[in-house]
Parts: sequence; C-alpha cells; structure tokens
Amino acid sequence: MTVPQKKYVSQFTMMGTVISLTLFEPRQAVVEAVYDYLENMDRVFSVNRPDSELSAVNQAAGQYPVTVSPACFTLIQDALAYSRQHADSFNVLIGPLVKLWRIGFGGQQVPDQAAVQERLHLMTLDQVALNATQRSVFLKRSGMQLDLGAIAKGYFADQIVSQLQAAGVRHAIVNLGGNVKLLGDNPLSPDGRWQVGVQAPAAPRGYPLLQVQTPARTVVTSGIFERYFEANGHRYHHILDPQTGYPVENQVDQVTIITAQSELAEVLSTVTYFKGPIAGATLIEQLPDTEAIFIDRQQQVTVTSGLQPRRKGVFYL
Ligand code: ADP
Ligand code: MG
Repeated sequence: MTVPQKKYVSQFTMMGTVISLTLFEPRQAVVEAVYDYLENMDRVFSVNRPDSELSAVNQAAGQYPVTVSPACFTLIQDALAYSRQHADSFNVLIGPLVKLWRIGFGGQQVPDQAAVQERLHLMTLDQVALNATQRSVFLKRSGMQLDLGAIAKGYFADQIVSQLQAAGVRHAIVNLGGNVKLLGDNPLSPDGRWQVGVQAPAAPRGYPLLQVQTPARTVVTSGIFERYFEANGHRYHHILDPQTGYPVENQVDQVTIITAQSELAEVLSTVTYFKGPIAGATLIEQLPDTEAIFIDRQQQVTVTSGLQPRRKGVFYL
C-alpha cells in the first residue's frame, strides 16, 4: 500500500515568465523564501531594470569597475568561462546585439549590416576585467553589455534546489518558465521517476510531443519558437550567432538537455542548438550523465544514447 501524497503547487509571474514550485508537503515559509530569493535575483540581474547590479556594470562600460554581490560575481565569472570554452556559439557579451535586434521586445525589422558589425566589436571577452578581491567587474569599452539571459535561470534553479535541500525538503519540482529542475524521487510514482513533457516546438502549451521519465535531473530547452519576428519571408529568432551577429540559421527547432546542473544545461542547450543533432550529439555523448533531445524543422527527433525509447514518444533515463 502506498500512502497517498498531496501536491502543493505555487505559481508566480516573475522575470517575464511563469515560475512554479511543486512541493509534497505544506511548507508555506519555504515557498515564501523561494519567492523572495527570485525577487532579489531579479533586482540583481535584470537588464530591464536600470537600477540592477547588472545594469550598473553595463552602464559603467568604458568608465570604471563596479563592485557587485557575490552571486552576481559568481554568475558573471561562470558565464565568461563558458563563453571562452564555447566561443563560436555562447557569448555572454551578446547584450549590444540583443538590444539591437530587440527580438521578443517589439523589434520588427532587420538592423542594417553596418550596425551589426559595429556591435560585434563590443563582444570581445578579453575586454572584461574581473577582480575577485574587490568583487568588481569592468567592461573596458563603452557600449559593451553583459546579457545573462541564456544562463541565469539555470543558476537560479540550482540555487533554489540547494535552498530547498537545506530546508529539509526531499521532493520538489522547480519550474522557471520551462527550465525544470527536480529534487529527490517522485513520491507519486512507483519507481520514483519524474515525468517531464517536452513540448513540440510550434505546438500550444500543454500538448507535449514527448515525455521523459527520469530520476532527479534538470531538463532545459532552447528553442526558436518562443521569441521571433518575421520579415521578408524570413524568421528571425532570439538565439544569435556571436560570430555573424545574425540569428542562427539551421534546421534545428529546439534542443532539450537533461543533466544534473541546470546552469550547465542552459549553456549546453544554446551550444548544441548551434551544432545541430550530429555535432551536438557528439558533444553530449562525451559528457557524463548528460543527454539531449533534438527536434528539427520536420519534427524529426534525435536523442542521445542514454535515453531509452519505452513506447511511442516516451523516453526513459
Ligand atoms: P529562453 O529560455 O528565453 O528561450 P535561452 O536560454 O535560449 O532563452 O537564451 C536566449 C537568450 O540568451 C536571448 O534572449 C539572449 O538574451 C541571450 N542570447 C542569445 N544568443 C546568445 C548566445 N549566442 N550566447 C549567449 N547568450 C545568448
Ligand atoms: Mg539556454
């Protein structure tokens, strides 16, 4: 006999997305703490708030170093390291380009090529000076801008799960607008695995194309259907190529990464989006306990070797 378990789902709208936290015991104080944490992180990291720490760093570009909080320093340091490691695809200095294209923020036209070229010059990684003792960040050239949009939610998810663990929570689902991180085993399933739906790229929400049955991992998707605009019969989406300055053009609609650390999953989802199912899968196969699901324009699904097909549309990890 299994003991019936209740689910406690809390939802809030924040950071331009819907955040949900699922617990299996009534822990209102824990829910409040997560809410407060995210509200605080928004104050630190939002590029849409002129008074955030990140905005202070960006506004001081070309002028002076800015001392930031430990969380801000750590995430910038990580993001720069990943940018060096995956220089062809991931670049945390993408801010000037993101602002130029304004994709998903009312941008409806293709910027002219000269403007794109100009912004590319503001994305050189060695133009950032970090000082760990002072905990300061200095963008050496005026106009440079950090944009942590492709990594921040992963960092928050990892931090939230650590906080839940520290509070004695043993099972949870943290969902930051589609970035999912699971804690412990699923008390509602006989084998403890969680079921995570993977949305078809263009489908309405709530109609998953695939399902992954997995022990506690993070499941993170990068896709091109959430934010884009169309012009001249062309679709321009929000994953920008740091080499060309234009949205990546390939046959991939979305990539889902399944691994332990959400921050890493965020980076890998962007990087493998660039690489596509062949080179992308090769990269993922080299990493321990990391899997990927690629969905291309024709809705072809490619999965890495650790994902076992169970029945149609269901993979088992
Ligand atoms: P989302 O979950 O919002 O779809 P992603 O994790 O796919 O976001 O990251 C997309 C965001 O990351 C963009 O909105 C932009 O802010 C930033 N970005 C776009 N291209 C790159 C890139 N090549 N490297 C790093 N960050 C990027
Ligand atoms: Mg990402």
